[in-house]
Amino acid sequence: MSPHVLVLGGTTEARELAAALASRPAVRVTTSLAGRVSRPGAVEGDVRIGGFGGAQGLADWLREHHVDAVVDATHPFAAGITANAARAAAATGVPLVVLRRPGWSAGPGDRWHEAASLTDAATLLPGVGRRVLLTTGRLGLAAFAHLTDLHFVVRSVEPPEPPLPPDMRLLLARGPFTVEDETALLREHRVDVVVTKDSGGTATAAKLAAARHLGLPVVVIRRPPLPQGVTAVPDVPRALNCLGLGPH
Ligand code: NAP
Repeated sequence: MSPHVLVLGGTTEARELAAALASRPAVRVTTSLAGRVSRPGAVEGDVRIGGFGGAQGLADWLREHHVDAVVDATHPFAAGITANAARAAAATGVPLVVLRRPGWSAGPGDRWHEAASLTDAATLLPGVGRRVLLTTGRLGLAAFAHLTDLHFVVRSVEPPEPPLPPDMRLLLARGPFTVEDETALLREHRVDVVVTKDSGGTATAAKLAAARHLGLPVVVIRRPPLPQGVTAVPDVPRALNCLGLGPH
C-alpha cells in the first residue's frame, strides 16, 4: 500500500510540500488545517479540517488512518500543535519531520527591538513609538488592549476578536506584500513603529525593508522554542529527503 503522509499545515511550505507529495503516485498525502481561516488556499491531496483533540486525539488519528510519517509544517508560532505532534509521534512511533522556514535576522540599517512574547512587545511599545503597525495576526491582540494612548493600524487576514486597543484602524489583507506598497502604507498612516512576529519567509518580509528604508524601529517577537529533542529542517526539499523521497 502507498505510504500515507500527514502534513500539519496552515503555511505556504505545507502547501508546497503537499503538492510535491501529491505529484508522486506512490504516496498518499493528507493535509490537516486548524480551520482558522474561512477561505483557505487550495491544497493538493486530501484535506481534513479541525483540531484532533490534543496529543492523544492526534495519536489516535495516526493509528486509525495508518499514517506512516508526519510532517509538522505549521507556522513557527503554532507551538500547541507542534508540542502535540511531538508527543503523538513519540506515543505511536510514527516518524516526525518538522519543517520550519528560517527566521529573519537584522541587517545593517535595521533598528530592531527583540521581544519574548506579545505581552513583552506591549510593554516595550510605549517607549519606542506612538503610531503602530501591528502585524502579529488576529489572535492575542488583547495584550495591546490597555495601550489607550497609542494609535494602532492592525493588519490581519481575518478580523480580530475583542478585546482590542481602542484607537485602532483595521486593514484586512493577505500577503505577499511589496516593499513599495509597505512603504506607502507606513507613510500614509504616519506609522513610527512596526510590530511583527519573527515569522520568516518572503511573503511578509517587505515591511522590514520598508521600515529600514524609512528608518523606523521594529519590535520583533522571537519564536517559541521547539519541543525538547526536536530539530527542524528549513525547506521542502530537505523535508522530502527526511521522508526518503529525494528528487525524482
Ligand atoms: P496552536 O496554538 O499551536 O494550536 C492550537 C490548537 O489548534 C491545537 O492544539 C490543535 O487543536 C489545533 N490545530 C492547530 N493547527 C492545526 C492543524 N494544522 N491541524 C489540526 N488542528 C490544528 O495553533 P495556532 O497558533 O492557533 O495556529 C493555527 C493554525 O494556523 C496552524 O495550523 C498554523 O500553521 C496556522 N498559522 C498560525 C499562525 C500563528 O501566528 N500562530 C500564523 C499563520 C498560520 P487540537 O488540540 O484539538 O488538536
